[in-house]
Amino acid sequence: MRAPEPGFPVSLRPVRPYRDAVPERPSAGERVYRGVPVSGGVAHGRVIVLGQSARQILRRELDPSEVAVEIARLQGALTQTRKDLLEIQHQVTAALGQDEASIFDTPLLVLEDPMLLNDVHRLIRDQRINAEAAYQQVSEKFASAIGALEDDYFRERAADLRDVAGRVLDHLLGHRSERDLRSLPEPCIILAPDLAPSTTATLDRARVLGFATDGGGTTSHTAIMARKLGIPAVVGLGDITARVRNGEYALLDGHGGALTINPTDQTLFEYGQLKQRRAALDERLNALREHPAVTLDGHGLILAANIDHPDDLADVRASGADGVGLFRSEFLFLNRRELPGEDEQFEAYRQIAAAAAPHAAIIRTLDLGGDKLPAAWARLGEQNPFLGWRAIRISLALPELFRTQLRAILRASAHGPVKVMFPMISNLAEVREANAALERCREELREENVPFDPLMEAGIMIEVPGAALIADILAREVQFFSIGTNDLTGYTLAVDRMNERVAPLFTPTHPAVLRLIQMTIEAAHRHGRWVGVCGEMAGDPALVPLLVGLGVDELSATPASVPAVKFLLRRLRLTEAQTLAQASLQAEEAEEVHQHSRTLACQIAPELFGAG
Ligand code: PEP
Ligand code: MG
Repeated sequence: MRAPEPGFPVSLRPVRPYRDAVPERPSAGERVYRGVPVSGGVAHGRVIVLGQSARQILRRELDPSEVAVEIARLQGALTQTRKDLLEIQHQVTAALGQDEASIFDTPLLVLEDPMLLNDVHRLIRDQRINAEAAYQQVSEKFASAIGALEDDYFRERAADLRDVAGRVLDHLLGHRSERDLRSLPEPCIILAPDLAPSTTATLDRARVLGFATDGGGTTSHTAIMARKLGIPAVVGLGDITARVRNGEYALLDGHGGALTINPTDQTLFEYGQLKQRRAALDERLNALREHPAVTLDGHGLILAANIDHPDDLADVRASGADGVGLFRSEFLFLNRRELPGEDEQFEAYRQIAAAAAPHAAIIRTLDLGGDKLPAAWARLGEQNPFLGWRAIRISLALPELFRTQLRAILRASAHGPVKVMFPMISNLAEVREANAALERCREELREENVPFDPLMEAGIMIEVPGAALIADILAREVQFFSIGTNDLTGYTLAVDRMNERVAPLFTPTHPAVLRLIQMTIEAAHRHGRWVGVCGEMAGDPALVPLLVGLGVDELSATPASVPAVKFLLRRLRLTEAQTLAQASLQAEEAEEVHQHSRTLACQIAPELFGAG
């Protein structure tokens, strides 16, 4: 078969409406499924299918001769689960310390509960029910009984029990579950309905070759994480997790958006060539690492990197970025029971500041909420989490939490040029309140003789349309804006960025979004403030000419996207970008704007688009 057209950079333009995954060549041993390419690269290896957790547990009557086998199978699954839990506990101890790892003590006890196991054995032996049905029936009976008690402690134990039971059942059924991403037996491609930030944050990075998901859009966290890890990803594959079996051999093409199961030798050969071309291009991109991000006609921009964790700093350096344009600090708060204290946060921010110097490190205060919630808050159960208690709203409602973070950020500012940024601002009062809290922390530190940079800049994210519309009012209160085009697009067009059914409507080049970006830049410049873009749009070479032409001063993208953006910037003329932006502002449709920008990008840097 012919390899799909390689389009190297990932365009933010959704490529097709949602549909079920349909193999292109059902008759051959090779099956090709198409989705939305969100992170470039080609990977091949065995797949691990997650979330086949609509566990199909069939109840069947055993032949008397099978009883011993079923009991042995159950014993094997219990032993395996115990090994998994100990392994995870060991890893968490190494990464986070003994205290954090102690949360695995209870699941280990639950696993060996004699009452529960006696009941299961009785069902298998006396009623001759198969192991998975017997185990599910008994564990669910126990969990329901404990969970019905009016006490948080017991409800948590019921959750522990269900979690452990799920692991045992997965072993009995031969499934893997999302939790197993912490340790993978071999390098593999992960297939999942979608990947939650809490899952991707703990995965065994060295062994994940790529992601392919049923759902998710171009700015879903699966996509962002894949780009960050520099691994291929294809999302929106419909019901792919129901169509592919664990352990099948696959080739994942993150450029063209295809997942090929059982690829033929010819297919592997063609993709091998594609990989070689990509490697040659990477070499050219890497050669620019030490060069500045400046257009052909001498207009300099700051090209920074987005990170979620201090571990990503090596990638920032390797990408040739000018510091950190967005540190998503909320990731420090996920996957743990206790929230990080001031000293722990200070240490993380200090590392980032020191590594980014002499460039700036922009630390964004907590953007929890939406799809990013610490384990302890997971039961908030909001109806519309993206319109609910999120980001700055949480920080202002929990002053002690906010104070701790602001003090840590201020202290880090003594170790490198740090800036602080407040997310999800929607009105003036929020900015004023946040600034006042910051000022109070400055005063405290002064009194305590703790060093900090008194001139540390404070800025806000513009990701709510209402904030863009009053950018002139907000500009008086801050030193800079950073436009979060992911949320700005979602909120302007009422499109959930995680939902593949509406992915075609997620268009950052929509004239409405464009006008909001332009208003924001114009208002900022009128007040002598600088403006960056840190949404995924900033890392898409096809759209960079448009953003430059609209007048942004900074672009911040995932480290893996930085080299291609720099390559493009160095071939672009500010004047032609400005002409493009003016024409785009007159356009009536997202597609037209996208086409104009992409055409210019293709002309000046065809290599990035698989040509030249
Ligand atoms: C954005 O909304 O564009 C952004 C950068 O924030 P996040 O993706 O973390 O919501
Ligand atoms: Mg956002």
